[in-house]
Amino acid sequence: MLNLVIFGPPGAGKGTQSDKLIAKYNLHHISTGDLFRKHIKEQTDLGKKVKEYTDNGILVPDEITIAMLKGVLDENKGVTGFIFDGFPRTVTQAEMLDKFMKEQGTAIHAVVALDVSEDEVRTRLAKRKEIENRSDDEEEKINKRIFEYYNKTMHVLPYYHGQGKLHKINGIGDVEAIFGNICSAIDSVK
Ligand code: ADP
Repeated sequence: MLNLVIFGPPGAGKGTQSDKLIAKYNLHHISTGDLFRKHIKEQTDLGKKVKEYTDNGILVPDEITIAMLKGVLDENKGVTGFIFDGFPRTVTQAEMLDKFMKEQGTAIHAVVALDVSEDEVRTRLAKRKEIENRSDDEEEKINKRIFEYYNKTMHVLPYYHGQGKLHKINGIGDVEAIFGNICSAIDSVK
């Protein structure tokens, strides 16, 4: 198995690079943001519980997020690998992910952290707002998402650095060039 985490602030290009990695390494994509949006659209009980948080750009409580993730892992036993996109966003989530991987006799092999400045992130999110229509794309909510990243999510980086799994990749520039650098990092641990 090859299990990857793609990490970075909102607007770093996680989704774009995930699509390319899925195709190349035959991975199963788990995006907690996409999963929450699906639940909200289908008005499931979980969707009703998380809407208030996601609409406002606030992290969904760990308990809810981790339970959903565990459910998705259990539904996908036997895949050749996972790419986690938007998860883990807290150290508790990272610890639980390690535990779940261990229980399945595997591990997280590499964490690809896309390095993009806060200024660039703001520019990209403002542009994306014109193309996509998300309920969390007003300026105030974008600010909140960026705040959550720098306050809570960034602490996940030293966690993985300590495990020797962190690969920082410059996320500014040509999409193909960035992808090439990510693949080199992954191939070095495979
Ligand atoms: P972004 O485009 O800001 O990276 P995502 O699409 O990944 O956002 O997630 C949208 C929202 O879903 C987040 O603002 C947050 O409310 C919630 N969310 C997604 N993943 C997680 C997670 N791992 N833990 C807590 N909340 C999450």
